[in-house]
Amino acid sequence: PRLANQIAAGEVVERPASVVKELVENAIDAGSSRIEIELESGGAKLIRVRDNGSGIAHDDLGLALSRHATSKIDSLDDLEGVASLGFRGEALAATSAVSRLELYSNISDEPADGWRVVAEGREMQPRISPAPHPRGTTVTVRDLFFNTPARRKFLRTEKTEFGHVEEAFRRLALARHDVELILRHNRKTVHQLPGGNHQEGMEKRIAQLMGRAFLDNAMRVDMAATGLALRGWVGLPTHTRSQPDQQYFFVNGRVIRDRLVAHAVRQAYRDVLFHGRHPVFVLYLELDAQGVDVNVHPTKHEVRFRDARLVHDFLYSSLHRALAETRP
Ligand code: ADP
Ligand code: MG
Repeated sequence: PRLANQIAAGEVVERPASVVKELVENAIDAGSSRIEIELESGGAKLIRVRDNGSGIAHDDLGLALSRHATSKIDSLDDLEGVASLGFRGEALAATSAVSRLELYSNISDEPADGWRVVAEGREMQPRISPAPHPRGTTVTVRDLFFNTPARRKFLRTEKTEFGHVEEAFRRLALARHDVELILRHNRKTVHQLPGGNHQEGMEKRIAQLMGRAFLDNAMRVDMAATGLALRGWVGLPTHTRSQPDQQYFFVNGRVIRDRLVAHAVRQAYRDVLFHGRHPVFVLYLELDAQGVDVNVHPTKHEVRFRDARLVHDFLYSSLHRALAETRP
């Protein structure tokens, strides 16, 4: 199991940003309405994610930290239509194998209840003791890669690592505008995003993260056909390219990078006169969970569509129609 944990750690835990992504996804899967992320030194020194979700029951605490223990699927069949963000059960185990991890959790509304679990590196069995915590879970990851110096050497400057964290945060925040999200770095609040519902919440969140100018200059997409729905905004860059890419595509709430999607987008832009221009977009595709396989790679954001042709053509025609309205 030691070797297995190391391999898993290599795959899932690349840098502080990957830890933040996994912990926040867990918080989202737990149904949290508020998630607070705190970092020190770009996350190399400390990453803390606090949520108000379901919490973890006492009997499941040890299990939560062991490899391939997930509460989210019961059988391989469930993999077919996985709805939660996590399902491999390796993020917590992999993280605790390469850090000093402390977890507090409480499943009850009694704030005097709760449990604390500590794990440190691969050698130590998690220790569980009673500790008060409000309903929900707090995970603290200290000294990432303290026991794997080779990996620690690969960490870049604080600024670079925090930049990666912020990008991971942006993706998660765009995916779930209904969840309140707070990001702090070295005790300074970098983002404080209230949760909001429906169209209004989505617009507000996008304006906060992409800039008002993006929304004002983008075309609205809202299409549904043959079990597929595409919503969001497409446009052209409003400012110089020092910004991150500003290309966000979500499938059932999960950010993805996909060649088929990229191709459909590029083709639509090309055919509506924006030849050679760099597209910017925030798009949300929803389809039946059975229609898409998310179990391709633990971190690479790849998916496989059951009916690739249908998805491609739907994307192309939806975007083509939206973009055509911007034609002078
Ligand atoms: P996965 O998310 O793939 O199931 P993880 O290693 O990320 O695997 O988490 C293991 C298990 O621990 C989860 O299945 C879940 O039951 C529990 N868990 C982890 N984080 C939280 C959290 N913030 N709130 C509630 N349960 C959690
Ligand atoms: Mg997880």
